[in-house]
Amino acid sequence: DRLKESKVYMRALFDYIPLEDKATPCQEAGLPFKRGDILQVVSQDDGTWWQAKRIGDSNLRAGLVPSKQFQERRLAYRLKMGTLQNPKSPQKPVYDQGCEKAGLRRSFRLSRKDRQGSSGEANALDPGEPDFLTYEEVTRYQQRPNERPRLVVLIGSLGARINELKQKVIAENPHRYAVAVPHTTRPKKSHEKEGVEYHFVTKQAFDADAQNNKFIEYGEYKENQYGTSIEAIRSVQAKNKMCLVDVQPEALHTLRTAEFKPYVIFVKPRIPESRRRRSAATSPAGGEHGRITEEDMQEMRQSAQQIEQQYGHLVDRVLIKEDSASACSELRSILERLEREAFWVPISWVR
Ligand code: 5GP
Repeated sequence: DRLKESKVYMRALFDYIPLEDKATPCQEAGLPFKRGDILQVVSQDDGTWWQAKRIGDSNLRAGLVPSKQFQERRLAYRLKMGTLQNPKSPQKPVYDQGCEKAGLRRSFRLSRKDRQGSSGEANALDPGEPDFLTYEEVTRYQQRPNERPRLVVLIGSLGARINELKQKVIAENPHRYAVAVPHTTRPKKSHEKEGVEYHFVTKQAFDADAQNNKFIEYGEYKENQYGTSIEAIRSVQAKNKMCLVDVQPEALHTLRTAEFKPYVIFVKPRIPESRRRRSAATSPAGGEHGRITEEDMQEMRQSAQQIEQQYGHLVDRVLIKEDSASACSELRSILERLEREAFWVPISWVR
């Protein structure tokens, strides 16, 4: 039995540098890792220090890592001492607004409180989520042909234009990928069909759905309401197509369920040197169309940083977007791999 391989795998939700860890019994025996790394926990015999290997590491020797309990205790202490930001009260990041999506009001979250049917403001984070970012137990998961395709969730920082990216990839392959058909209260145009462009509903019906948390997000545009429902995602999956949604990162708390098994792609723009503008003075208006100022660059960097900080642990893949064409082809290849290969998912999704 002792020779059996440990089947316990953890996704690290924090960076660990043993040489900076004063508590470790032996810095040289420590195993350094980064957030997102998968660790095979070889021994949990010691309550404070686990022995673990890093998946994909050629080094076969296990090293010491702080146990989940110990790391939680340390973070709780730091929180108490005021050297750690409260994970339950994050600031709202600035993110990509898709293309020109109607101003989003709020994203739907099925918090424990909502499920119990009580009213009141929802917490900033799902109460089901851990208080501290330590480890998440994971397992390999491969979608079988008879299983519903995983949900693909695109989040983006300022300038990522994730809606455009989503639309392009779907247009190339409409029998495999689809959007969730949104609801709207605006009148149907003559060329439009119910259930194709939109589900056309009355304002009363829309408000009732919003009240009943049927939407993952909704917003208003030119006095009409627009929103995407959970049911719309389900109906795409029922046709055995992969559903792509572009949402505000807050919606991850709703969508991260065993039912949807979302694969989360964070699209981060990178502005090539040729599109950067040195300063306003050297570039008269109209002379450098489409160029980006240092100020814009700063805002984009900040937006990406905020999302990384607050949502990085929920991201499966970062897609660096330089131009639309290469980002599309990268997204396409990610989606193809998603159908063919096994990926790490929280163990709670398959139990
Ligand atoms: P239109 O009425 O011209 O079809 O769309 C008007 C606006 O509504 C567009 O800017 C479009 O991006 C936005 N919109 C379409 N679907 C949704 C949705 O599901 N949620 C939100 N928030 N906006 C949407």
